[in-house]
Amino acid sequence: MGAFKSFYDQVVRPVLDIIIPPRCPSCGDMVENDLQFCGTCWPQLKFITDPCCSACGRPFDVARDDELLCAPCLARPPKHDGVRAAVVYDELSRQIPLKLKYAGRIGLAKLIARFLGRHMPDDCDNLLLVPVPLHRGRIWRRGFNQAALIAQALHDSHEIDILLDSLLRTRATPPLKGMTAQQRRKILQGAIKVNPKYLDDIRGRDIMLIDDVYTSGATTNACVIQLKKAGAQTVTIYCWARVLRDGEEGGGGH
Ligand SMILES: [Zn+2]
Ligand SMILES: [Zn+2]
Repeated sequence: MGAFKSFYDQVVRPVLDIIIPPRCPSCGDMVENDLQFCGTCWPQLKFITDPCCSACGRPFDVARDDELLCAPCLARPPKHDGVRAAVVYDELSRQIPLKLKYAGRIGLAKLIARFLGRHMPDDCDNLLLVPVPLHRGRIWRRGFNQAALIAQALHDSHEIDILLDSLLRTRATPPLKGMTAQQRRKILQGAIKVNPKYLDDIRGRDIMLIDDVYTSGATTNACVIQLKKAGAQTVTIYCWARVLRDGEEGGGGH
């Protein structure tokens, strides 16, 4: 691998850079290094930082000392143990999952993993990476599960345990966009199961549930419920971008 890597870095990469120069993953302008944003896009990315809701990680506009939970979490305490998103979902940040999924730029999974690495707890020993599953029909059409690629990249960079097929989609579900929270729950009921092969591996673990975008939280919630039923100690959602709207569950796709 080492020899291959140095051959790649010294011979293949420079040639590739001439033929296919690295481009900003958002706007497509030429940049110096692969998987790097250009000087225009970079400052426009809305990184999610403190202050934020202590339950779901939703950023607050202003620091609030007295109220640590956001309104949706106060109304309905979440089943997950946090959502860590790198950036706010907007026209700029959505280009990354779009290009990853539909333009086959699978290298972008590495870029997402790099940003998620900043949100990682200090002690990774009990962590287990689990991607949100796609139905096999969709994997067959797309060729891959983008969440699995991100999880794999985090596994490679941080040496965290991974179980790629620990969650299974038992049936395909239609896009959830435009549905009420109740309709989403109903459609997803029974659609996601824990792979019985891995019950022992999941019990007592702190799960990093990986997805590309967090929208309504309906799909990840269905995953969280199943993982906790299987004995997971905690389930924290990690994703590239998060849809922020008043009165979430708003959102669309997932
Ligand atoms: Zn750009
Ligand atoms: Zn919250």
